[in-house]
Amino acid sequence: MNVTRIQIVHRGLTHCCPNCGARTLFKSGTLFQINQDCPACGFRFERDNDEGFFLGSMSLNYGVTLVCFLLPVLLLAFNKVIGVTTAIVLACVGAMLFPALFYRSSRSWWLMNYYFFFPHHLPANGGKGRAGEDDNV
Ligand SMILES: [Zn+2]
Repeated sequence: MNVTRIQIVHRGLTHCCPNCGARTLFKSGTLFQINQDCPACGFRFERDNDEGFFLGSMSLNYGVTLVCFLLPVLLLAFNKVIGVTTAIVLACVGAMLFPALFYRSSRSWWLMNYYFFFPHHLPANGGKGRAGEDDNV
């Protein structure tokens, strides 16, 4: 295998293309726009036969927001470190800000999660880069 799991994790954490490692996952100059394909190697990020794929990144984003932001705010209020009003304001503002700040990572981490378990689907490893590749059809 040309691309190892360690490389896939490193590329995922740094928002790079899982296939070639170029910093091409997002369109340059934009915050939230993902490239359809990698400009460096042509690897397809947006999966046309699997439009539900990135719903996983939303779940990941939701879970991380809950555990890493909303739960600590709740615990601070519960232990009377901050007031209830402060906690409510923090939770309302943070519940919108945190997912936006975490958006890029959630997309990249979800892609990383997939290829961590199916590294042989990467074109660099001889795969076609899509779900259902192992199906017996
Ligand atoms: Zn690439």
